[in-house]
Amino acid sequence: MSVDPTLRELQAEVRAFADARDWGQFHSPRNLAMALSVEASELLELFLWSKDEGPQPPEAGRVPRVAEEAADVLMCLLNLADRAGVDLAAALRDKLARAGAKYPVERVRGRARKYDEYAEWSEDDGTA
Ligand SMILES: [Mg+2]
Repeated sequence: MSVDPTLRELQAEVRAFADARDWGQFHSPRNLAMALSVEASELLELFLWSKDEGPQPPEAGRVPRVAEEAADVLMCLLNLADRAGVDLAAALRDKLARAGAKYPVERVRGRARKYDEYAEWSEDDGTA
């Protein structure tokens, strides 16, 4: 087992885990997409009622559970990508390239608006 595993190695581990239990029969892309959403919500719940300032998650005892739920999210995502035939690394790089074009560093650095909320990008002002 690699110390710094690749996505494909992790996917193989997740697949072997499921195959050993004959769980593949339940792992349709649809079910895995739902499971991913459920696990993301479980992660989100740990931060529920946090204040903007102060500890996040609000209870120190939840910190180990953040790692656990993050792992659940990753496991579902790796499994979903595997079953749906998605090359996650390629998809991520493609997404970053498109996001980079939408959000050029010189225009958005330190700003958190959505790309179409920057007035200077309006198609009407000729700078878009
Ligand atoms: Mg969970």
